[in-house]
Amino acid sequence: MPAPVPTTVCQKRSAEPEEPDITAPVLSVVVPAYDEAEVLPLFAQRLRPVLDDLGEPYEVLVVDDGSTDATPALLERLRREWPSLRVVRLRANSGHQAALTAGLARARGDWVASIDADLQDPPEVLGAMLQAARSQGVDVVYGVRTDRTTDSVFKRTTASLFYRLIRRLAGTSGPAQAGDFRLMSRATVDAVNTLPEANRVLRLVVPALGFPSTSVGYAREVRAAGRSKYPLARMLRLSVDGVTGFSIAPLRIATWFGLLGGVAAIALLLYAFVAFLRDETTPGWTSTFVVVAAVGAVRLLCLGLLGEYVGRMYTRLQGRPTYHVAYDSAAPPAADPQGR
Ligand code: UDP
Ligand code: MG
Repeated sequence: MPAPVPTTVCQKRSAEPEEPDITAPVLSVVVPAYDEAEVLPLFAQRLRPVLDDLGEPYEVLVVDDGSTDATPALLERLRREWPSLRVVRLRANSGHQAALTAGLARARGDWVASIDADLQDPPEVLGAMLQAARSQGVDVVYGVRTDRTTDSVFKRTTASLFYRLIRRLAGTSGPAQAGDFRLMSRATVDAVNTLPEANRVLRLVVPALGFPSTSVGYAREVRAAGRSKYPLARMLRLSVDGVTGFSIAPLRIATWFGLLGGVAAIALLLYAFVAFLRDETTPGWTSTFVVVAAVGAVRLLCLGLLGEYVGRMYTRLQGRPTYHVAYDSAAPPAADPQGR
């Protein structure tokens, strides 16, 4: 049975568990977790035997993304029972991708896997990923969802539309149906860690790095407990980050809208001039209103698109980190461009 939950997160030094040498693990497993107290005990229970059976040194790096439920205390308790568990806590909820980025920057393994905390990605696949990477000599192994029937029809449809769009716009996105369940070599993770880009979408960034890769299929399971932390607004945010992070095509679309608007305006001017020469009276009001409204809409759309890119430049220029680490149960490495 698990030990009672400690009342405070900071415990006396004497209460520290004896740490195994996980400073040079073969495998790091990065787990972003936001308000996952309900599922984390189940997750640890299922992950631990899988990793123990690998027979190689590993670390499990749970990035607590500013949870407000019992997650911090729970992780502290789990860490006492499982010395290979390492906890990095972000000061505020920074989002799934920022939490993953924080984990990748701190992972020390020769291989680094990322996996969701809710057991939608089965931990048992990790062994197959490691084996595939080694036997095929590749740097990246994508977990590809062969069966997504557990996701809602809405989620499946929107995801499929998004990846079709991004493939068309950016010409890259890695295998279809791949999320953030993947294994990466040290070289891949080092490359990801040197990127200065904020608001990154890792599932698009990693394939774009161009390392040799392969895929392992898996059936997406239902969330074991708790609720999804990805409401529609967050999914939209991820899509916008994905598109603007990989393509300037939307800016070109804006230009085309502008051009079309210009041509329409010229045609209307000609029409008005001819009508004037023929001394025809036009009722005017309706057409004026429609034109003003249409032009206004196009202008707003273009401004919005421009805003997306200007926003990215702004964020980049500010150089403000996308997350702040409050606590790391192991010493952090020096270089981390995202989380100064
Ligand atoms: N997550 C996170 N920060 C957030 C939202 C989600 O770290 O702001 C984590 C979450 O705890 C889970 C993973 O990201 O481990 C995927 O989130 P979720 O399962 O809620 O997304 P879904 O599977 O519904 O798309
Ligand atoms: Mg999930």
